Amino acid sequence: MVQSTKELGISSKQKKASLFKKVIYGLCPNCASTSIFKYYIKLLIKCPKCGYEINTHKIGDGAAWFSMLLTSILVAIGALVLEVNFQPKLWVHVITWFPIIIVLSVAILRPFKALLICISTEKNN
Ligand SMILES: [Zn+2]
Repeated sequence: MVQSTKELGISSKQKKASLFKKVIYGLCPNCASTSIFKYYIKLLIKCPKCGYEINTHKIGDGAAWFSMLLTSILVAIGALVLEVNFQPKLWVHVITWFPIIIVLSVAILRPFKALLICISTEKNN
């Protein structure tokens, strides 16, 4: 059962934390006082502060989809700019873009996961 924010001593300032702050820091969409992630992308079942059930949101592979979409758009633009300006050999593209694809897609996966949970929370309230 979710306790009220007054019972938990959660200020209205924390409750009304901006969506940007919740997404960047991976904060609880209900109380915004603690992280909803156990590991880098592994979600907690409940918020340890307010008891809000995080795992009930059905976000599926949405975060991975948005992460791959944004990464592919940025890499395609970058590869096009590199090709048009410098005409490098193919191996230069491979060693340039492969690590960027891996790092960027993993780096933006967590914020997208937090964003989808915040959107789902707002939609259900
Ligand atoms: Zn919470």
